[in-house]
Amino acid sequence: EITPVRRALLSVSDKTGLVDLARTLEAQGIELVSTGGTASALREAGLNVADVSDLTGFPAMMDGRVKTLHPGVHGGLLALRDDEAHVAAMDEHAIAAIDLLVVNLYPFESTVAGGADYDTCIENIDIGGPAMIRAAAKNHRFVTVVTDIEDYVPLQEELAAHDGGTTLAFRQKLALTAYSRTAAYDAAVSGWMAGALDEPAPRRRSVSGTLRQTMRYGENPHQNAAFYADGSARPGVASATQHQGKALSYNNINDTDAAFELVSEFLPKDGPACAIIKHANPCGVARGATLEAAYRAAFDCDRTSAFGGIVALNGILDATTARAITEIFTEVVIAPGADDAAKEIFAGKKNLRLLTTDGLANPLEPALTYRQVSGGFLVQDKDVGHPTELRTVTKRAPSEAEMRDLLFAWTVAKHVKSNAIVYARGDATVGIGAGQMSRVDSTRIAARKAHDMAEALGLDATPTQGAAVASDAFFPFPDGLLAAADAGATAVIQPGGSVRDDEVIAAADEAGLAMVFTGMRHFRH
Ligand code: 5GP
Repeated sequence: EITPVRRALLSVSDKTGLVDLARTLEAQGIELVSTGGTASALREAGLNVADVSDLTGFPAMMDGRVKTLHPGVHGGLLALRDDEAHVAAMDEHAIAAIDLLVVNLYPFESTVAGGADYDTCIENIDIGGPAMIRAAAKNHRFVTVVTDIEDYVPLQEELAAHDGGTTLAFRQKLALTAYSRTAAYDAAVSGWMAGALDEPAPRRRSVSGTLRQTMRYGENPHQNAAFYADGSARPGVASATQHQGKALSYNNINDTDAAFELVSEFLPKDGPACAIIKHANPCGVARGATLEAAYRAAFDCDRTSAFGGIVALNGILDATTARAITEIFTEVVIAPGADDAAKEIFAGKKNLRLLTTDGLANPLEPALTYRQVSGGFLVQDKDVGHPTELRTVTKRAPSEAEMRDLLFAWTVAKHVKSNAIVYARGDATVGIGAGQMSRVDSTRIAARKAHDMAEALGLDATPTQGAAVASDAFFPFPDGLLAAADAGATAVIQPGGSVRDDEVIAAADEAGLAMVFTGMRHFRH
């Protein structure tokens, strides 16, 4: 099952590592054939290479649209070497067998990412490359196909180990990589076209990602897992730079994403902000006069849960904030940047991972979210909705301070799993109730946690006294609202829209609450 490699066709847009690879191939006595730009690069390096036009009898034409699309190439890739009729056809038409194909495609994805115009994107759709890759991969019983520069070294090692040949197992593995590459490439083209034609994103029919990292395990140690990047340039966990610490785990990535997306809601011009996340839910969010103050206020919402959490900041991490964060164990810190003094402080904490993103994510930028269900997966637009109109529905309107807290609580509630209840006061969350099946339970849990925290901190009053409370969806009955009033909340923000709105509003009036309807709900599951 070891097949010798006698002739190789190299046709690459990205010429990284090309000359090195070709030198090893030449040293193995392998004949080299190339397309225009690749052949020039090889000749410049002093290598001996034939032109593809020698195999096809045709020059490259139509601006390179047609270079290798010819039986002289595809016959050489597809012929079964142990089939008499195939061999006879090769002889009859003077087709030379190609045993190794090295191709990387026109850089379509980066052309799109660079904001190129429609026609430029079209010209960057590779046609001959994918055709050759698919042909070679189909014939992997005889042909070796390399589509990833990362595979150059393994190829060199394989050839060295097998006297200039490759094993079937090796060719099969590369064929799998090859088909993944052409599938992702066409998905990128189709995704780009859907965007160009204004097709609603969830109906785009194909999704693709590039394997970015395989993990030791998934959500639990017995689950395999990997992380795929979708090529978007959005600042966030996928594009962040990691400065220290172990590789991110599956749960780290999930939680870090939640933390960074939440903190990105708070624009730096409105002041420093911090979000602390545990199990994909915030356990404390705050603004402050400084980043350190924001961190400490967020921490004070739920010190118990913050242990081993993920911290996201909306500004450059400085030394004082870094020092405050290191007072307890934190898994990951993500921020738009970090200054040298902060990095130095973290350097002493080997288990702490620091990620910088070079900016915040735009919370209004459209994106997609996916969820797996048996038999398929659900796709929807990311929840980038912001209510356009707030309506006071009670006799009393919120004061300016209450309004500020209401909007703060509402923003956080959008990032809390449903049923979500968030109490906020003075630019900080003071109680968060997440993921309950009943809204009244979320309301009570949030208040109880606030109470426990006040006790632990030795505060006189429960921090929910005078707080604003946000509910991610309407109160179906007055009970949840009354539980919030019992806890001391004085203002409420919620979507409204229940058939019992009148009852809920009457209860609010009776309790002296100010209540605002947003007309938009933020379920998150
Ligand atoms: P070169 O730089 O060698 O001139 O071109 C290499 C690129 O051309 C590779 O990315 C390869 O996939 C692509 N390619 C090879 N054959 C064809 C073809 O027949 N048509 C098109 N459009 N691209 C091709």
